[in-house]
Amino acid sequence: MTTSLLDVAGVKVSPDHYIDGRRVPSATTFELFSPIDQKPLGRIAEGLEDHTEAAIAAAQRAFPAWSAMSASERLPYLERFAEEIGKRADDFCRLESTDAGVLLSRMRHGVVPRAMLNIRWFAQHALELQNRPIDTEQAHHIVRHDPAGVVVIITPWNAPLMLSTWKLGPALAAGNTCVLKPPEWAPLTCSLLADCADAAGLPPGVFNVVQGTGASTGAWLVGDARIARVSFTGSVPTAKSIAQAAGANLVPCSLELGGKSPFIVLEDADLDGAAATGALMYRNAGQVCLAGTRFLVHEKVAERFIATMRSHVAKLNVGDPRDEATEVGPIIHPRQVERVEGFVQRAVAAGAELLWGGERHDFGAQYFKPTMLTQVAQDSEIVQNEVFGPVLTLQTFASDEEAIALANGTDYGLGGVCYGETGHATEIAKQVRTGFIWVNSFGIRDLAAPFGGIKRSGVGREGGDWSFEFFCDVKDVVVPKKPFKASFSHR
Ligand code: NAD
Repeated sequence: MTTSLLDVAGVKVSPDHYIDGRRVPSATTFELFSPIDQKPLGRIAEGLEDHTEAAIAAAQRAFPAWSAMSASERLPYLERFAEEIGKRADDFCRLESTDAGVLLSRMRHGVVPRAMLNIRWFAQHALELQNRPIDTEQAHHIVRHDPAGVVVIITPWNAPLMLSTWKLGPALAAGNTCVLKPPEWAPLTCSLLADCADAAGLPPGVFNVVQGTGASTGAWLVGDARIARVSFTGSVPTAKSIAQAAGANLVPCSLELGGKSPFIVLEDADLDGAAATGALMYRNAGQVCLAGTRFLVHEKVAERFIATMRSHVAKLNVGDPRDEATEVGPIIHPRQVERVEGFVQRAVAAGAELLWGGERHDFGAQYFKPTMLTQVAQDSEIVQNEVFGPVLTLQTFASDEEAIALANGTDYGLGGVCYGETGHATEIAKQVRTGFIWVNSFGIRDLAAPFGGIKRSGVGREGGDWSFEFFCDVKDVVVPKKPFKASFSHR
């Protein structure tokens, strides 16, 4: 028995789990609301222990056949998976815009093409994994990348389709079977992904989706001793619980976490370019892990920079994410709006000065004005903690050394932006302690490049070979070139 399909933004989507190639309903469900206008979208299956148990068992059963295929045998399945995502592009756009508030235009031009590429790119690059010999005088080492087993994937609400496929692509291409637990505040595009996998003919159990909340469904999945890997993107407190649960079974975890990334503007920066890029930090209403949220501006150019950025920010359209003209959409949930508002109010009470914004936007209850706070101390809450909303801070510095010290002065280390004369900015960028940093740019990504954070921003790297290393058991099969003479004195 399956539950009837939901009709969300004209798209028919299942609220049920997808386990062993079938839709599985739950006796327990939770209500889903749109961040656009707080309208209920329908009730979603809550994963109970029976469901997590069944999904892991199905993934285990599917593993021997899927992992025994060569990467070139898996390639057509994954090519078809990517094609099916492409066929439903419009549905993905409408769903994620409605349940997560992501701009429709960004879905269409950025997220959906990237989701397809996430599946296709890793499927093609897995072909290169099969044979990586090391030849020495003594022996031939066949370095194998064997699939690890059942992988649990847990993703956050700010980019569910992009992040789920970013993990699924390499995990499946390397020959693992997967159980995905989508974010409970934005679960719909992950359900549609299951339809695409089904239409592409992925064998039952290779890809499973269990909907539900983190504290119960997610915790059951990551605490299961049968799994081989956990790939998680989300917040620091959740990562700590996951690492503890998985660590109890010595299951390796990849943890992509929050950020408080610096946006450095040097004295020799192109101020207009920096300010235009600066305004992009309000993208997705600031609910972007890699956004540069701490502006560090040379004191000699601060006044001009603030005036230029103010004029860029004043032009931003805050509104309905389905409207093509909108640049800043809603905050995901009333609780998150309160959290954002609380950060701003406490910062102002502690002496911060509002350069712009600072309150909810007239457009609706879940919309917040792009905000910039200055006169903030380095050790203050607003500088040290991730807000995950359209709230930035601005501090000034007098020397390169001071800029670097401020940039490195939080427990986070995800990304960064540095604007200045290219050579100068590159030198500063090298000294900022993060997993990546953009010089005179923002957001340039390549699937082959490493992505991830240091300090509280994460453990491990994703992208290219780093994803494959994580999802594989690397094994050295050593074949001697000369007859082997057994000896107790041999090294
Ligand atoms: P979250 O940690 O609250 O939830 C993330 C996911 O974990 C959800 O699916 C949730 O249901 C699940 N979860 C919660 N508790 C769990 C538990 N005990 N066991 C297993 N699963 C559990 O994060 P969020 O609020 O959904 O997302 C926002 C956070 O994600 C921010 O901190 C943001 O910076 C971070 N993020 C990081 C990246 C990155 O690549 N570094 C990308 C996007 C978002």
